[in-house]
Formats: sequence, C-alpha cells, structure tokens
Amino acid sequence: MTPAVKTIGVIGGGQLGRMFALDAKRMGYDVVTLDPQERSPAGQVADEQIVAAYDDVAAIEELGRRSDVVTYEFENVAIASVEHLERLAHRVSPASSVLRVTQDRILEKTFVRDCGIPTTVFAPVERAADLAPAIATIGLPAVLKTVRGGYDGKGQWRADSVEESEAALAQARGAPLIYEKFVPFTCELSVIATRAATGDVVTYPVAENAHDRGILAMTIAPARVDPQVARTAQTMAATIGRRLGIVGTYCVEFFLAEGDELLVNEIAPRPHNSGHYTIDVTPCSQYEQHVRAICDLPLSPPRQLCNAIMMNVLGDGRGDHLAGIPQLLGDPSIVLHLYGKRHAVARRKMGHFTMLVDGPVDDAAIARAQSALAKLSWTKEEAPVPSGTSASPA
Ligand code: AMP
Repeated sequence: MTPAVKTIGVIGGGQLGRMFALDAKRMGYDVVTLDPQERSPAGQVADEQIVAAYDDVAAIEELGRRSDVVTYEFENVAIASVEHLERLAHRVSPASSVLRVTQDRILEKTFVRDCGIPTTVFAPVERAADLAPAIATIGLPAVLKTVRGGYDGKGQWRADSVEESEAALAQARGAPLIYEKFVPFTCELSVIATRAATGDVVTYPVAENAHDRGILAMTIAPARVDPQVARTAQTMAATIGRRLGIVGTYCVEFFLAEGDELLVNEIAPRPHNSGHYTIDVTPCSQYEQHVRAICDLPLSPPRQLCNAIMMNVLGDGRGDHLAGIPQLLGDPSIVLHLYGKRHAVARRKMGHFTMLVDGPVDDAAIARAQSALAKLSWTKEEAPVPSGTSASPA
C-alpha cells in the first residue's frame, strides 16, 4: 500500500496548475507549486510556491521532499527533472516514460500507429537532405513542426509549395522537424480521459474544437458528430491511455477527416484547455479526476449535466485591464474564469468562460457565445464600473 497523500507538488504555475490546485484544495489537499515567476497563476491559490527554474535540481528536490506525490501541468517539463525525482523514489504521475513518448512528435505518432490507431501521414526531417524525399513521398500541402517543444502553433509552419517548405526548414534553424501531410479536416475533436493506477479509464464526452492560428479559440461539448464517431474516439483515447500506462488526466486530439475518418493529431499527458468546460458542467472536473488518479482515489464516471460552449479569453497587447465583465456576466448562463495573469500580451491565454446551453448547440448558441466574447476588451486603464453594478452597499 502506498501511503496516503497529504501534499501534492505541481511543476508549473500556469492556469492548468491553478485550476488543478483549486480542485485539490477543495478536496482537502495541500498544494506546493514550482514556477520561476513569483505569484504565478497556480502559486496564487496553492499553499506555497517554490520560485525557481523548472530544471533547478535543488528546487526540484525540495518539491519532492515537501510532496507525497508530484505532478506537472505542462508537457514540456524537463524529463531530467522528473527522472531525478523518480530516482530519489518520489512518486511522480504521470511517469517520465509517458513524457518520453509525448514530448517527441515522431515517437508519439509512431506509438499511436503501433496502437493500431490512424494518425496523420508523416516523415522525419532531421536534416536538410530529408526534406526533398519527404515532399516526394507525402506531397503538398504539408505542415512542418518542430519535433520537440512546440505548443499553441509555435514551431509550426504550413507549406503549400516546395519553396515554403524550404523556408520553414530555414526558420527552424536546424531543429529536427516532422513533415506532416496537411489534413483538410471537417473538424477537430478531443477526448479528455483519466487513467487510474488500477487500470480503470474514464472518458469525457468528445469535444469539438475551433482553433485560431494554432491556439484553441472555442470548444463545444459534446461535439456535434455522429454518435458512432464519438464512441470510436473515446475508445481510441482509452486504448492510448492504457498502452501508455499513464496515471492521471490526459487529452487525445483528433482530426475528423473526410468520410468520418478519425486521425490522432497529438496526446497531451495532462488536463487540457478543451476540458475546461468540465469544471462547470460535470460534477467531477478533469482536474478533480486528475487529483483522484494521482492520489489513488476511485475515478468518477463523467456525467455532463448540460451542453457547453467554452471560449478562451486571449490578451491582445492593448492593455492589462479587462473591460466588459459586468456586461458579460449580465448573461446568467455564463461562468467566467480568469487566471490572475498581470500582463495581457497578445495571444496569451488570460481566462475563459463557459456558456451553459439549454438544448442543442446550434448556430444561434455559437453566435451568442461569440457576441458574449466581443463584450470583453483589453484597456490600459481600469474601466469605470457602470452605474447599477457597483459592488458597494446601496
Ligand atoms: P498541434 O500543435 O499539432 O496541435 O497543431 C496546432 C493546430 O494546427 C491544430 O490544432 C490544427 O488546427 C493545425 N494543424 C496541425 N497539424 C495539422 C495537419 N497535419 N493538417 C492540418 N492542420 C494541422
């Protein structure tokens, strides 16, 4: 029997760590986070924050000493840090073996293919000489991505011609690339799932995702797809979790291609942006499910209480104050989450809201969510509180 967990350590202090910490605190755990930025989003709600670089060995060791189990909230965490904790016999979930696969797009796609699950057609481009054969066998258009380290569309180039492929190669400055066939998908889907150490796996309803320049903009849950497609995606996600032997919440992202063909795009070994909606419309969110998995508690079969649209709130570089919150919250179906980030630099994820939707998610519901988002804007100065919404007593 492993000893009961009292304190959970989290490498990374971003919004995923914050929402994880909020659920862990609700469940009675202490949370210590490690992040180089003081008062990080997770640090603001955790019991303590160790302010240090993610690969600072002494700080990682301190996190291990203070915690009964350690997890992380971003997948590009230094594998060496996780391995170091494992060598010192600290519990870390998910294990470094999972990161080895998911941090390398070539290993990840090969792993998915070995599970008997379709993925995009790809070829490694480790050096300039690999590009021409990749173009010849896979064709154009294509997407070139750095094998390691990319996220939110960073380290990624679409190429419609040989010249654009060569330009992408030049911009990558020698970083190994994966050359992927461009998939003219009908939509993007994701499945949030959690696997426990017992081998139990639960999957949330399939979510439908719209991206803008590589960053998630909107999630609709459940996805508006054929129920058989949804079941297949959930089964594929469960298979991937089992074969990875992951302990914790993870996400499998798919392209739905012509003829309802599902292709896995990538695996995130952590709670995911497309699962934020679970906080507001499922009794046990993806974050609580992660707490349960890493603390050896039973998982909760997901139950979605109503349809949801999640909209990300991104910075635009025009200021750090968010105006329009009273107007947004005039709609009682909206739940707002802000991450406590001080600077709203362009395209930075600052928050999100979930719109609870009675009835089906149709074009009118999507338009309502989009016009709700348009009520928000970033300003240099704190916006004056409109009359009638003052927080002071009358
Ligand atoms: P990724 O970093 O692999 O998740 O890619 C970010 C986004 O870029 C995806 O969600 C897609 O919208 C787009 N994308 C990535 N790979 C491809 C591909 N092979 N074909 C079409 N679109 C892609």
